[in-house]
Amino acid sequence: AKASGPGHYVQFKQELQTAQDDRFLLQRELETALETNSLEVAFQPLVRAEDRRIIGFEALCRWPHPRLGSVSPAEFIPLAETSGLIGQLTEQVLTRSCQAALHWPSEMRLAVNISPVLLRSEDFVHDIARILQSTGLPADRLEVEITEGVFVYDTTRVVSHLDALRALGVRVAMDDFGTGYSSLNYLTRLPINKLKIDKSFVARLGENKANDAVVSCVVGLAKSLGIRTTAEGVETEAQAELLSAVGCDSFQGYLFGRPTSDPMAMIVAECKATP
Ligand code: C2E
Ligand code: CA
Ligand code: CA
Ligand code: CA
Repeated sequence: AKASGPGHYVQFKQELQTAQDDRFLLQRELETALETNSLEVAFQPLVRAEDRRIIGFEALCRWPHPRLGSVSPAEFIPLAETSGLIGQLTEQVLTRSCQAALHWPSEMRLAVNISPVLLRSEDFVHDIARILQSTGLPADRLEVEITEGVFVYDTTRVVSHLDALRALGVRVAMDDFGTGYSSLNYLTRLPINKLKIDKSFVARLGENKANDAVVSCVVGLAKSLGIRTTAEGVETEAQAELLSAVGCDSFQGYLFGRPTSDPMAMIVAECKATP
């Protein structure tokens, strides 16, 4: 907290002003990055729990920034959302990642993060349909990852847009499960194919009985509702074994592969390892 006194106040104002200038500059730079198509996409593998083979990749946006190096999406995604750039950003990520996925074995899926802001608008369903059409990726190979943030908006509208996506054949995953306004109630109301158990639960596995019980219950509940489960942030063999034991379907995390700009190399390496 800032102490009283005019000197401190001036310093505080300057800091605020600097933060606003920085934000504005960053926004301008993000606009430029979008105009010049210079955002990149990294792909992180998802593996089947049973045999640990790759079943798909999640697209993660990257911004190679000329001055700041690599800016984290945790920083620029919120900025894109509040400055009206998220639509354009998502369109670029979707287009590039659908093009990449065309080269993968046809049983592998592509997962793309979709901001709650976009799910409000009906145009969005049309935009996805158009991108699938233009890239030629079959709709059933695409999975959209949404978050509990969608509940900030009119749920009825969000549900109808998700239903429209499902009607196209697109799958829907609930990301970061357990971190938001989790209500088990919505699991029965939202048209969801998959739950992604947040990495904060995975990180505590084996350390805390209550935490392990929550994970086990969530997997069991999802199963009884016909919903698949992916555990995120799996970093150790011990975590993977505990998750397998409770019946989790698939894993994602550094133990199996970091996000990479060259997913084909990973696919080829797996093919060679298990002919
Ligand atoms: P997320 O969707 O939960 O993505 C998973 C994040 O966990 C990624 O961070 C990934 O690199 C990281 N991760 C993967 N495995 C591990 C692990 O074993 N341990 C740990 N500690 N972390 C792991 P990243 O790439 O920095 O992305 C951060 C967030 O930014 C994403 O979280 C997602 O919410 C958002 N994001 C990224 N790309 C996009 C995008 O294209 N559109 C939207 N709307 N959001 C995006
Ligand atoms: Ca995600
Ligand atoms: Ca997540
Ligand atoms: Ca997250």
